[in-house]
Amino acid sequence: MSGFRDLPIRRKLVLILMAVTGGAMLLAGMGLLTFDFFRLRREMVADMQTLAKVIALNSTAAVTFRDARSGQETLAALGAKSGIRGAALYNEQGSSLVRWRRPGASAKFPHRPGPDGSKLSRESLIHFQPIYLYGQRIGTVYLESSLDELWTRLQVRVLTILGMFVVAALAALGLSSLLQRLISAPVLGLSDTARAVSENNDYSLRAEKRSGDELGRLVDSFNQMLAQIEERDTALLAAKEDLEQRVRDRTLDLQVANTELQQSNQELDDFAYIASHDLKEPLRGIHNYSTFLLEDYGEKLDLEGRAKLETLLRLTRRMEVLIDSLLQYSRLGRVDLAIEDVDLNKIVAGVLDDIAIHLKAEGADVRIPRPLPTMRCDRVRVGEIFHNLIVNAVKYNEKPQKRVEVGYREGSSAGQPPVFYVRDNGIGIPEKHQDAIFRIFKRLHPRERFGGGTGAGLTIVKKIVERHNGRIWVESEPGHGTTFYFTLQRGESLADHAQAADSPD
Ligand code: ADP
Repeated sequence: MSGFRDLPIRRKLVLILMAVTGGAMLLAGMGLLTFDFFRLRREMVADMQTLAKVIALNSTAAVTFRDARSGQETLAALGAKSGIRGAALYNEQGSSLVRWRRPGASAKFPHRPGPDGSKLSRESLIHFQPIYLYGQRIGTVYLESSLDELWTRLQVRVLTILGMFVVAALAALGLSSLLQRLISAPVLGLSDTARAVSENNDYSLRAEKRSGDELGRLVDSFNQMLAQIEERDTALLAAKEDLEQRVRDRTLDLQVANTELQQSNQELDDFAYIASHDLKEPLRGIHNYSTFLLEDYGEKLDLEGRAKLETLLRLTRRMEVLIDSLLQYSRLGRVDLAIEDVDLNKIVAGVLDDIAIHLKAEGADVRIPRPLPTMRCDRVRVGEIFHNLIVNAVKYNEKPQKRVEVGYREGSSAGQPPVFYVRDNGIGIPEKHQDAIFRIFKRLHPRERFGGGTGAGLTIVKKIVERHNGRIWVESEPGHGTTFYFTLQRGESLADHAQAADSPD
């Protein structure tokens, strides 16, 4: 059955049409045959009766006078009628008077006559006909006929019907092949269009309507559906293009803003650099002249005058330190980094070497729990980061046992850079000041406490980290200690991942 289901519609329609015509013809043929069979049989019986009556009439004399010879002659006339196998005459008492058998035929003569009338068996038709004389029964005629003729005639009928069946089947085949196109052509057209649409994603295609029946309506609905999809497709495409254009516009805006920001940062760095550079010269003059004054005219001044001059000298020295910090900071924005593979173990070891005496004097213990990785970065600048953070960790620490730990942890997920840290057990930083400490010249303490300072160190550290595309942040608990964290490269954001997956190479 599934074989039939999978046949092409064209074949199915021909098969169905053939089955219907074939079935109808078979039924009609069988009806015709049955009718023929009964008609032939009736005719045969009627023939037999007529024949028997004729014989009965002709044999009254033979029966009355028991004239076997004349009886034999009468019966022998039956030889002209093919199909009759044998015949017999019986007298009134039912004993056989005379018998005739066609030469070569086998006839079963009953011992005594049976009931009047015809009886049909499978291979023969027998008939008993009463013989009357003046209204009185004087004997019986017996006739036996073979059914060969009946079967022959039926066979001819069957062959005729079969012949008609073949001719009609051929005609039906031709006709159904023509007719099925009425149905299959629009269906095939529809399926071809549907395939073309799905293969080429072309919703502008339409199926051809060939009729106004249900199939025509189906084609109409299909075409309407395509039109709706096409409309939606166009709208979707337009929306997508609009969105892409907006993204392009925004990206361009951002690029412009970014370039402007970079430019103004650069200008600011240039300005700070030039200003501090130019300020140094008059400052040096003030400092020199104050020194000359003190040396050449110190004798002539009283104690108060000399003290004021010395304050002036101290202030100019401080100003110089501040201007130097500003110079250092602004220079950071002007020079390119020298990026290379740097073994951070060597960098930290160098820093510790430089400040070894200071560390020993402060009684500080610096621990590195596990070897640091190698990073692509600027060797000198990253050295400055560790230098500043380790010095601060010891500086802002009042514990008798000053402990510093330098380490790192892996990026929290794939594509995230390692996070370095410098941890101390020092005084800590209150939460509200944790942003301010990265501002230039910002200090949290009176000028001379904790060994003094300019308040530029962390600002410079932050700028170096940011020039490496990294981030710096602080966690601290006042009285217990502080940890500075930083990274030295940008973490891949989700957007970067998506872009990488999009790009073909
Ligand atoms: P400076 O050390 O010259 O004052 P910094 O920029 O290095 O300047 O530090 C800014 C301020 O941040 C410091 O004045 C200090 O108050 C605070 N600070 C820096 N490091 C630490 C630390 N490890 N523990 C506590 N406070 C700190």
